[in-house]
Amino acid sequence: MERTYIKEIKKGQVFIEGWVHEIRDLAKIKFVLLRDMTGIIQCIIKDEKLMKKFSDLSIESVISITGEAKQANVKSPEVSLNNIEIEVKDFEIISKAEKLPINIHDKDIETGFAKRLDYRFLDFHTKRTQAIFKIQTEIANAFREFFYNKGYMEIQPPCIISAASEGGTELFPVQYFEKKAYLAQSPQLYKQMLACSIEKTFTITPIWRAEKHNTTRHINEIRQMDIEVAFMNQEQVMKEQELAVQHIIKRVLEKCPEELKTLNVKLKVPKAIYLSYEESIKKVKGKVGEDFTPEQEKILCDQYHDSIVFTHSWPSSIKPFYIMPKDEDPNSKESCGFDSLYGGIEISSGGQRIHLPELLAKRIKAKGLNPKNFKDYIDSFRYGAPYHSGWSIGLERLTQAICNLNNIKEATMFPRDRDRLTP
Ligand code: ATP
Ligand code: MN
Repeated sequence: MERTYIKEIKKGQVFIEGWVHEIRDLAKIKFVLLRDMTGIIQCIIKDEKLMKKFSDLSIESVISITGEAKQANVKSPEVSLNNIEIEVKDFEIISKAEKLPINIHDKDIETGFAKRLDYRFLDFHTKRTQAIFKIQTEIANAFREFFYNKGYMEIQPPCIISAASEGGTELFPVQYFEKKAYLAQSPQLYKQMLACSIEKTFTITPIWRAEKHNTTRHINEIRQMDIEVAFMNQEQVMKEQELAVQHIIKRVLEKCPEELKTLNVKLKVPKAIYLSYEESIKKVKGKVGEDFTPEQEKILCDQYHDSIVFTHSWPSSIKPFYIMPKDEDPNSKESCGFDSLYGGIEISSGGQRIHLPELLAKRIKAKGLNPKNFKDYIDSFRYGAPYHSGWSIGLERLTQAICNLNNIKEATMFPRDRDRLTP
């Protein structure tokens, strides 16, 4: 017989496969809750022989059941989809589970987060963790769908690079044959080169940052959702982001109502608010010329409920060298760079880039970097380069914001942090 997924069970003979979610023992009857990726169903064992065969079976063991799907006697919404239960005719043990090192029942989330991460493969058995990644799947897919449907091309930047793309020292070195190379800290330079020929580009790509801090919003291996577009300015790509994030959240609302309920998240399609850097830093009593602290990001978001808050036209001094100054003046204090905040945290940075080789070299110097190290990059703009803009949203960061998670590691399948390299 062919396997039926629990959600699709109709009355009659069925063959189902899954995990033993719970066992309820009564004197002359056993109730087994069987779980697969689509749901949980109550199965009843009345036959004495079968009860014996079942007697030492542990929670989370994997079994297959042949039986008859029938109208359930007692209503139990948690368990019987469409009020159906299975009378077990026979079952096979596929894999016996040993005593679990962590409690995976959702009623008990007392197990410490670090320990749950130690047993992450088992943590994926829980409804909560599955819900987070169902939502993440929708986020990534909706991002791709949105830009694909607008005629953007998906690009595949390299992940091993020869030099820093953002300046600074937050790189993981790798031995690349006889040479020293690095894991990419961003697809920045490559997506710019691509946008300057194929115009509209997007990517979802892993990046690595060797930042030593261990916060609830940083990991060391990140997936970024980026766009880079020719013939667009700061305002135009902010608008693209507004529409993309709204589309993503619409999709999550449409596809994941159950998962949002599981996570106890009340989600709304956000509005967008556009503020200049200067007015927004003043609003939170920050210092002009400095980045927002995490507390200030939260305060700013709290002033605009259910909104993506764009802060644009940042000072050049606190944006990367490749961000276009306003006025094309190399000494311009204001830039065409922006950040966006959602759910109390930064979800993206972006802006218009410098497409003029001489200006780029000047800005690299002004940042205390050596233009010689960026020769290939600068030269790539010498043969017909349009003005262009783009941004980058962290996939885990956006998942954290949408699911309202305390720690970004909850939104990372196998997080890499200062201390964790396994599993
Ligand atoms: P933050 O200020 O939050 O440390 P950033 O400004 O250093 O981030 P960007 O270079 O702007 O990061 O990267 C673009 C986006 O990628 C960020 O807005 C964020 O969503 C995500 N991101 C960057 N670094 C990390 C990280 N270490 N962990 C998780 N997400 C990150
Ligand atoms: Mn940023």
